[in-house]
Amino acid sequence: MPDCAAYSPLKEKFGEHCVFGAPASGFTTYRAGGPAEVLVRPGSREDLLWLAGWCRAAGVRLTLLGRGSNVLVSDKGLPGVTVLTGRLSGIKVSGRTITAEAGALWDDVARLSAELGLAGLDKTAGIPGSVGGAVRMNAGAFGQETFDRLVWVEALDQAGGLLRLEKKDIPHGYRRAEGLEKLILLSAGFEFEAGDIAVLLQDRSCVLAARETKQPLEFPSAGSVFKRPPGDYASRLIDAAGLKGFRIGGAEVSAKHAGFIINSGGATAADIYALMCEVRARVKAGSGVELELEQILLGDF
Ligand SMILES: Cc1cc2nc3c(=O)[nH]c(=O)nc-3n(C[C@H](O)[C@H](O)[C@H](O)COP(=O)(O)OP(=O)(O)OC[C@H]3O[C@@H](n4cnc5c(N)ncnc54)[C@H](O)[C@@H]3O)c2cc1C
Repeated sequence: MPDCAAYSPLKEKFGEHCVFGAPASGFTTYRAGGPAEVLVRPGSREDLLWLAGWCRAAGVRLTLLGRGSNVLVSDKGLPGVTVLTGRLSGIKVSGRTITAEAGALWDDVARLSAELGLAGLDKTAGIPGSVGGAVRMNAGAFGQETFDRLVWVEALDQAGGLLRLEKKDIPHGYRRAEGLEKLILLSAGFEFEAGDIAVLLQDRSCVLAARETKQPLEFPSAGSVFKRPPGDYASRLIDAAGLKGFRIGGAEVSAKHAGFIINSGGATAADIYALMCEVRARVKAGSGVELELEQILLGDF
C-alpha cells in the first residue's frame, strides 16, 4: 500500500495527475504488470524539475516512462514515483531543425518532418513511443534510427544539474545509447536534410502499411522482444524453433510476427517474462544463438 501521507505534497501539487496504485496495464502497451506506488504526469518542464528535486530530497526512487511501449513492468509493481512524460509534448520547427520535448509522440515528429519536406526519419513512422524513449533506445526501423538526425539532448542528472549532451558525447549503436540510463531526458534537437514532400509522405504511407501487414497491431505488445542478432533476425530464429503461437498463460509468441510477444488476453507480467525466457532457451538450444532482450524489465522479476 502506498504511504499516501508521505506523498501528500505530490497530491497537493499535481492533483488529478497524481494517482496512487495505478496498474501498469493502464500505462504500458503490454497492458500488463502491477501498480505504480505513485504515478505522476507533470504538465510542464518546471513541474518535472520540481518533482525530480522532491524525489531527490525525499530519497524516493523515480522511474521515467514515455508511452511505456518498450517495457515490461513486474506484477509486483514499481516502488516510488513513476513519471509519465506524455503531457510534455511541445514541438518546435526552425528551418531544418526540429526541437521536441521528451514526452512528444515520436510519430508526431516523424509525421511533421515528412509534411515539411525534412528527410531522414520518415521511415521511423509508426514507432509508438515518445521522443525521450526513442532517444534512450535509439529506436529505429527500415534502415533509419533516431541518432541519424539527433544533434543534442537536454537532460537532468541525478544531482539535479542540467546538461546539454551533443550526439558525439553519447556512444550509440543499434538500439543502444550509452550513459542515458540515469538521466531524465527533457528535450532533443534533430537536424534534417531537405527532401521532397511527396516522396517522404509516400515513404511514410508504405511504412505504416507494412507495419499493419506484418505486425500484430491488434494485440497489446511492446514491439520486438529481442534485438536483431548479427547477420540474422530474431523472428526468423524463433520461427525456426517452431515457436509461433507458443503460449504461456495469456502471453503468446505472435503467429503473425514471431519477434513479438502479444498479450492475447489477461497475460500477467510473469507469463510474458516466462515466455521470454522459454523463447531464449529454445532458440539457444536450436541454433546456438543467444538472443539479447531489447525490451526493458522494470521492477522485480
Ligand atoms: C507495436 C509496436 C511496434 C514497435 N516498433 C518499433 C520499431 O519499429 N523500432 C523500435 O526501435 N522500437 C519499436 N517499438 C518499441 C518502442 O515503441 C520504442 O522502443 C520506443 O522508442 C519506446 O518509447 P517509449 O516512450 O514508449 O519508452 P518507454 O517504454 O516508456 O521507456 C523505454 C525506456 O526509456 C526510458 N525513458 C523514456 N522516456 C525517458 C525520458 N524522458 N528520460 C529518460 N529515460 C526515458 C525509460 O525509463 C525506459 O528505460 C515498438 C513497440 C510497439 C508496441
